[in-house]
Amino acid sequence: MSTHVAVVGGGLAGITAALRCADDGDRVTLLEARPRLGGLTHSFSRGELQIDNGQHVFLRCCTAYLQLLHRLGVSGKVMLQPRLDVAVCSPDGTTARLRRNRLPAPLHLAGSLARYSVLSPADRLRAVRGALALRHVDADDRATDAESFGAWLREHGQNAAITAALWDLIGVATLNARAPDASLALAAMVMQQGLLTDSAAGDIGWSLVPLQRLHGDAALACLGAAGVDVHTGAKVLDVHREGESLVIRRTGGAALLADQVVLAAPAPVAESLAPAGSIALPAGWAQRLGSSPIVKCTLSLTATCSPSRSSPECVPRCSGCSTAPPQPGFAKASIWRCPCRRQMASSSSPPNSSAGASCPR
Ligand SMILES: Cc1cc2nc3c(=O)[nH]c(=O)nc-3n(C[C@H](O)[C@H](O)[C@H](O)COP(=O)(O)OP(=O)(O)OC[C@H]3O[C@@H](n4cnc5c(N)ncnc54)[C@H](O)[C@@H]3O)c2cc1C
Repeated sequence: MSTHVAVVGGGLAGITAALRCADDGDRVTLLEARPRLGGLTHSFSRGELQIDNGQHVFLRCCTAYLQLLHRLGVSGKVMLQPRLDVAVCSPDGTTARLRRNRLPAPLHLAGSLARYSVLSPADRLRAVRGALALRHVDADDRATDAESFGAWLREHGQNAAITAALWDLIGVATLNARAPDASLALAAMVMQQGLLTDSAAGDIGWSLVPLQRLHGDAALACLGAAGVDVHTGAKVLDVHREGESLVIRRTGGAALLADQVVLAAPAPVAESLAPAGSIALPAGWAQRLGSSPIVKCTLSLTATCSPSRSSPECVPRCSGCSTAPPQPGFAKASIWRCPCRRQMASSSSPPNSSAGASCPR
């Protein structure tokens, strides 16, 4: 008889776990508290606009995510840059581009860094030295995890200007933390995997359709086809052992019996639901992980900038990460999703238009 696995949580993690178990021949039940799948990545309506929450960009090195999109049959609904190309604008109006060339890593960014006009020539050289040193940090060493990325940068000649215009630009978008608050191990892992080892790894991708269609709706169909029994509006209240089985009490239906449970819910929920002794960590582990909230701002442009009007005034940029939309084509869309997760974005209005910023929450 096949194993019955109950998956708690229908975000990207729960969807992936449920599909993996079903593909392995298990009988799977997925329980999601909300009325839809997708978790943090979903879309909601404001007037005629479909506005996304959650994951807005990914990198070519996010191979597990790309495999999930393939499994969901939605690979064609995302855009992946043929080559990393990001406009960077500093608050004083200086603009530059981070764009890779065809050379192998780390030479693929050498040309961009040599012309990186938001930094002085001396700082560009210091930045290159810092990047080369970062390649040799052991990201798997526990001691590295206890060290701050900011302290390491200072020790390796990276001043405030380089940190703001280069390291935080990448760090805030990927780690949701500025250098002093980021673990050196995590920062090294991101920079090594995304920028310093494989030249194509840092190419940026994004969805061409609302995230709810890309993830939640596609997953509902895919899970159904894989034989997974999906229950939305089913909040799990507790999980306890009864003999060989696990009993899962939930809202909206009778309790379930399962052989195994996958807790794909946020850490505090997972800790509260896990039966005593099932996770080999001291109590309070979820609290100790802490959290780093992501604030997202969506700009609704009431006028369109064509590439021919791509003057600095015509390109909205985020005041937090100084990033402009990665492709000139963004302007054809009415929504720009800024990669900055920590600060509110502000728009600079295209000439003769009344572009406005609106925050969905
Ligand atoms: C604004 C924003 C921007 C982001 N940008 C990016 C980005 O650019 N790139 C990137 O890679 N990532 C980004 N992320 C992060 C990414 O969206 C998340 O890491 C990812 O979606 C988390 O998926 P998950 O399945 O682990 O958790 P979640 O999406 O949180 O899923 C957990 C699910 O469990 C359900 N649940 C909770 N409690 C229960 C219960 N008791 N019973 C049943 N179900 C329960 C929840 O309703 C939820 O659906 C962003 C996140 C946000 C919020």
